[in-house]
Amino acid sequence: MENDKLTCKSCGGDSFGEGKLDGYSALQPVDKIFSNGSPIICTVCLNCGEISSIKVTKPHKFK
Ligand SMILES: [Zn+2]
Repeated sequence: MENDKLTCKSCGGDSFGEGKLDGYSALQPVDKIFSNGSPIICTVCLNCGEISSIKVTKPHKFK
């Protein structure tokens, strides 16, 4: 099964790429000082640059 069909809410485009924030840009849990957090994956419209989705790759880190 492919990814859910995405449509850009800004321009209506349907071509997307993925970007990753990692290292110092990883999202840290607010109450876990010694955790190293989780990288973030952004899904970006290739037409206008709108970010349609932002996900962390390790959601269990935030429990
Ligand atoms: Zn767009």
